[in-house]
Amino acid sequence: MKTDVFISGGGVGGLTLALKLAQRGVDVVIAERLASHTPAYKGELLQPKSMQIFDGLGLFEEIKERANEIKVLDMLELSSTLAVRDQSYLDYSVLPGKYNAAYMAHHEELKSIILGAASHFSNFHYLRGTTCKKVTEDKAILRKGKEQIEVQADYFIGAEGRASITRKAMGIEIKQSAYNHHFLTVTFPRPENFRDGQIISTYNRFLGLFPLPDNLVRSVYLIPEGDYQQLKEKPISHFHKLYTDLAPSLDGYVQQLQEWKKIQLMIPVMFHAPAYIKGNKAIIGDAAHAVHPMAGEGMNMAIQDADILGELLADMMESGNRQPENLLWYEKVRYKRAEHVLQLSHLSALAYSFPFRTVSYLRKKTVERMEEDPILHFKQMLNVSGLGMWKENVRDRFIQGGFMPVRSRDLTSDTKELKYFTREEDYPWKVEGLV
Ligand SMILES: Cc1cc2nc3c(=O)[nH]c(=O)nc-3n(C[C@H](O)[C@H](O)[C@H](O)COP(=O)(O)OP(=O)(O)OC[C@H]3O[C@@H](n4cnc5c(N)ncnc54)[C@H](O)[C@@H]3O)c2cc1C
Repeated sequence: MKTDVFISGGGVGGLTLALKLAQRGVDVVIAERLASHTPAYKGELLQPKSMQIFDGLGLFEEIKERANEIKVLDMLELSSTLAVRDQSYLDYSVLPGKYNAAYMAHHEELKSIILGAASHFSNFHYLRGTTCKKVTEDKAILRKGKEQIEVQADYFIGAEGRASITRKAMGIEIKQSAYNHHFLTVTFPRPENFRDGQIISTYNRFLGLFPLPDNLVRSVYLIPEGDYQQLKEKPISHFHKLYTDLAPSLDGYVQQLQEWKKIQLMIPVMFHAPAYIKGNKAIIGDAAHAVHPMAGEGMNMAIQDADILGELLADMMESGNRQPENLLWYEKVRYKRAEHVLQLSHLSALAYSFPFRTVSYLRKKTVERMEEDPILHFKQMLNVSGLGMWKENVRDRFIQGGFMPVRSRDLTSDTKELKYFTREEDYPWKVEGLV
């Protein structure tokens, strides 16, 4: 089998890349190890930049229709008696323009939408239930049952997630950091009017609630590392109480979960591969970086990688500038953006990692200040959205710490939009040229 681009791994990242290439007339083969949908939980929160990318791919309306729109993240800090001590909002509407909300979509459904769109193209070849075993200079060796398949390609992209075999073939080593906590994660029914995201915390507890369509809610509950086995031995009513203590509105809903086996353990890790490309190979998504799930960014980073690399590969094919050195543009655009998101997510994780009252007090203060100061609020939402990157400076830190007063004047929409990545920043080779 011969193709222009071979992609190993048909997760959200690999599929988005394949769709983008197929739409631009590039011949693409994608191999996905799984033969059918998996019940395993994965990313479901689509940030504004991902929606902008899907708009470019013609999928915005379809995804929006099948998703729950989240305008606001409601941040509740409770006292040790579980009374509300503080309530702040992180609001996507501070972002001007069309992409000013996040969307919760079922992970497998999102993949089906992308796959469905790609399947219309005769230059898109999807090999289901096919594992990529080895990648060499010019071919990938795949296995489907007992059959061995060889794919020759000009470029090989690793989109297989954390245990990427393409990354290994490229000789790229990663250093993974672990956290002192894990999460229980599960989806269950919710009240119909519960539509916004909620982060509920006490000094030693954390519950994240993200409403999905179909009156369901995806939840993540923080537990100390190593507690899972012990917890599972308790009656399921113990789990219900953990939730209803923090979110009484879920009483009568969370109890619809009757088995521990539906509740999955999620182990957060963080790594950033030192490089994304080598010769005619590149890695995207979780193969290139794993991010703590606190800020809901992992899937979005995979989509954003796919967008930049897809545009680049398609431009290389179209212009005949096929030299692999051009792939450097992908790393140049994406590496520092990904590093920033990794750091943001890591900081958010630390803010909820330590069960001390001082940490809870500082967290409450920081979130309160972020809501009150319009520039801090915009910066936070901009960075989380993926639409732009605006790092916090010393003045921001002083305001957050309460050492300087909050600013009362907001930025105009035009000034805010100047902070969005431009087309030239997303795709700089279009201006600077390919070799
Ligand atoms: C439990 C859990 C919860 C999460 N929650 C969130 C969240 O709320 N928000 C968020 O943004 N992110 C979340 N994430 C992270 C998010 O799901 C990932 O960052 C995202 O799915 C990465 O996409 P990807 O395409 O790079 O990799 P993946 O989604 O991991 O896809 C990789 C694909 O490659 C296939 N594959 C692997 N090896 C091979 C091989 N050798 N040959 C062929 N195919 C192969 C796999 O079967 C898989 O389908 C979560 C992850 C987990 C595990």
